[in-house]
Amino acid sequence: MPTAALPAEGHLLIVGAGLAGYHTARGVRANGHTGPITIFGEETRPAYDRPALSKAYLTGAVAEEDLLLDDPEDPLDVTWVSGVGVVSLSGNPEGTETLGVHTADGRFHPGDAVVITTGASALSLPVASSEQGISARPYVLRNMEDALALRETSLQGLAVAVVGGGFLALEAAATCTERGAGSVTVAAGEQLPGARRLGTAVGEAILSAHQAHGVQFAPPARAQAVRSCTRGHEVILAAGETITADVVICAIGAKPRTEWLLDSAVQLTSGHGAVMCDDTGATCIPGVYAAGDCAQWASHSSGLRPVGHWQEAVEEAAVVAAALTGADPVPLQEPYFWSDQFDLRIQGAGRIHLADEVTVVDGTPQEGNLLVHYARGGQNLGILGINRLRDVTRWRKQRRIRPAQLHSPAAEHPMTVGSHPTAAETAPTAA
Ligand SMILES: Cc1cc2nc3c(=O)[nH]c(=O)nc-3n(C[C@H](O)[C@H](O)[C@H](O)COP(=O)(O)OP(=O)(O)OC[C@H]3O[C@@H](n4cnc5c(N)ncnc54)[C@H](O)[C@@H]3O)c2cc1C
Repeated sequence: MPTAALPAEGHLLIVGAGLAGYHTARGVRANGHTGPITIFGEETRPAYDRPALSKAYLTGAVAEEDLLLDDPEDPLDVTWVSGVGVVSLSGNPEGTETLGVHTADGRFHPGDAVVITTGASALSLPVASSEQGISARPYVLRNMEDALALRETSLQGLAVAVVGGGFLALEAAATCTERGAGSVTVAAGEQLPGARRLGTAVGEAILSAHQAHGVQFAPPARAQAVRSCTRGHEVILAAGETITADVVICAIGAKPRTEWLLDSAVQLTSGHGAVMCDDTGATCIPGVYAAGDCAQWASHSSGLRPVGHWQEAVEEAAVVAAALTGADPVPLQEPYFWSDQFDLRIQGAGRIHLADEVTVVDGTPQEGNLLVHYARGGQNLGILGINRLRDVTRWRKQRRIRPAQLHSPAAEHPMTVGSHPTAAETAPTAA
């Protein structure tokens, strides 16, 4: 039995009341921990799930209550400290400094272990000065407040510009179109949205679905800034061209929320500022772990796993919960993501980002039914399906790593993962 990092009656502090924080607490309780757990969240609302914020929540198809993470029928046995941010962490690698966190209200909370799950914040474009002296205010999409602001803005007949070429930007473009925007223009920075990461066929499929609904794509130049103008807003592209719009949405990436750790002893990656961890989420301070979008695990640093997806945050939380409670180690499964755009359900699994061979196995970009395989050196590494639920689910089941296989050569060398026997699938319910 592995050693528990958290004593049986120890007090666990979780900083960040989001997806990874919630699932860490659930995992720790499921593993039998009976000591107190406190979850700190700077937002005043109960913990919620984010994927619908760029999809069904924006269109009004789901309400805030539908996104709550805690189950009222089976609530977590934890203390929620909401509406007050954590401002610093105490503890050192030698273990000689008292472990705990300081909150913005000036209180110190000692604990026996701390899990950092503070997620990320949305990046936005620089705001250029305008002749009228009015500051442009582009929307971003990271939290419920952001989504609520956009949801409460009537888009009927308005010109919307969406900056960004990732799934978040494309989902925002689709929902704005569905909400009756007069025009939607995406500044994706590439000719075929998503093609650089996922291949030409996938880019064509996405482009074709969006164009069929009237979405326009700006020339493939990098967006540099946004400014207000007499007609609303202008997005300034690198080539000097501009896109004029009533509403601008920036979906150009996110940055780990680790500013509160700058004076702490945990190590942050240079540049991005993510919390550096090993593959159990452990940081350089004994008893301090990190998971989710704020963390960079060893397998992220070595490029073996991508960061920033729902599934990754949930699985990391389970790994951390096992390390804290001394339960059997939990394996990380093949990476997985999904996106909903108009009537496309796009699902990707495996190490697509490492592949250099892309093969269309079935379907065509125009029919919205593509099945694509990704390989490197002739070895299949991943799959992407557009409206191919069954194929992607089957691939994931075949690759599922069971705890007993954790120390097998295949699991230790994930580039050479073979086909594993089928086990129960835990695919997330997509929003
Ligand atoms: C709009 C949107 C759509 C998405 N859609 C998809 C999708 O379709 N598919 C997919 O695979 N993934 C999707 N994702 C990604 C997925 O939701 C994230 O990977 C996941 O939420 C990460 O969980 P987390 O717990 O690390 O961070 P979060 O869920 O962001 O939680 C972090 C929490 O910590 C709080 N916090 C931050 N700093 C402090 C502090 N100092 N003190 C106290 N609290 C603090 C924050 O307020 C937040 O509540 C989407 C993300 C967004 C934003």
